[in-house]
Amino acid sequence: MNSTCDSCKEALRAHNSIHLKIGDDYQHLCMNCYNEVMSEHHDINFENVGFEPINLSDKDGAEHTFTFHTRLLGDKVAMEAFEEMEGDKAGYQFQVIGRTKDDILSLYQSLYEKMKRALEQKHIEPNELTSWPEYSITRNAIVRGHITSDIDDGSTPVVIIDGHEISWDEFGKMVATYMGFNFKMELFDQSEEK
Ligand SMILES: [Zn+2]
Repeated sequence: MNSTCDSCKEALRAHNSIHLKIGDDYQHLCMNCYNEVMSEHHDINFENVGFEPINLSDKDGAEHTFTFHTRLLGDKVAMEAFEEMEGDKAGYQFQVIGRTKDDILSLYQSLYEKMKRALEQKHIEPNELTSWPEYSITRNAIVRGHITSDIDDGSTPVVIIDGHEISWDEFGKMVATYMGFNFKMELFDQSEEK
């Protein structure tokens, strides 16, 4: 992404910008400027606090780098962590939501704990039987993931499992191994944890 914030002119980074419509005017803002507009609009005393990127290891010892963004949502605040990835692949992403009067540090703490819990879980493993799909579901037969959309074709979702982007086709192939099994599926907000 090469564009700049319409307000402060800082370069916009992935996951750190938002399109805002004010009257007939569209603005592409960095998260800090967006939060300023929102806090003025809702008359909320909100101060942007930046958090440095961190590295976390997963269960297999692989390192993942995360950047943090805080976004004001009316009287609530969302804090999000995105894994930094090569190219345009999506990796792990996490969100917690709190009230704006909650301590921003305790919100950060709960996000951090949530990330650590998630990185300790493994739902898929490299597929050793065939070259495709690249992964198979682990023996626990439980899959947790995040649903995102395919940029090229919005008709099927792309899922992120254990920080790996997996196409709907590939996920289907992974599930096909379980022909004859039953399954249960529960969908819930990104800020929840189950
Ligand atoms: Zn800005």
